Amino acid sequence: MTTFTDLRTALIARQKEWVADSGQEPDVGFRAIEFVGEVGELFNVIKKILREAGGWRGTRATPEDLADEFGDALICLYNLAEKMGVDLDAAAIAKFNRTSEKYGFPHRIMADEPPRCFACREPLQLGQMVIHDITEGLMHATCCGPERDAYVRLDDGSPLEDGEPIPTGHPWYPDTPETRIAYEDGRATTASAGRTGANGED
Ligand SMILES: [Zn+2]
Repeated sequence: MTTFTDLRTALIARQKEWVADSGQEPDVGFRAIEFVGEVGELFNVIKKILREAGGWRGTRATPEDLADEFGDALICLYNLAEKMGVDLDAAAIAKFNRTSEKYGFPHRIMADEPPRCFACREPLQLGQMVIHDITEGLMHATCCGPERDAYVRLDDGSPLEDGEPIPTGHPWYPDTPETRIAYEDGRATTASAGRTGANGED
């Protein structure tokens, strides 16, 4: 989300200079009117595009006009949110992730850097199979190796029993209430989705 965060930061910085001469910030009312005005301009462009598609007479708008007005509307939405104390990036990311959780989609947006596999140091990707190392944290299941004695039961740290399969791990998603519950459920039923820290390979 670097692009959006940069936009927001730049808007805040420019705003200070914009009003420097008057020393007076636009209030919520101004920002609200400005936003609705820009949404109106956007829809006026959409109207002209639909008009052209219908083959009717009247003024036209270009694809550049459309992009311009979408940009304006977004900027004004940022300014309005800022004025009302809402971090629009954080709000949009949180809402996106909540909707994914609610409807069972794996897609998540990460505001921060994802954690890294402690063995290969690569950032974890959504849905990659990971194993929880008892001392080091998360690692790729593929980085964990095939030796049975590298694995332990997560609940008490005891070795795997004879014939007990080597854990395959679980798909990684950013830490959310839902993935935490799924992970803990999986842990409760397999009891062996772990790896001893003793043979760390980094
Ligand atoms: Zn790895």
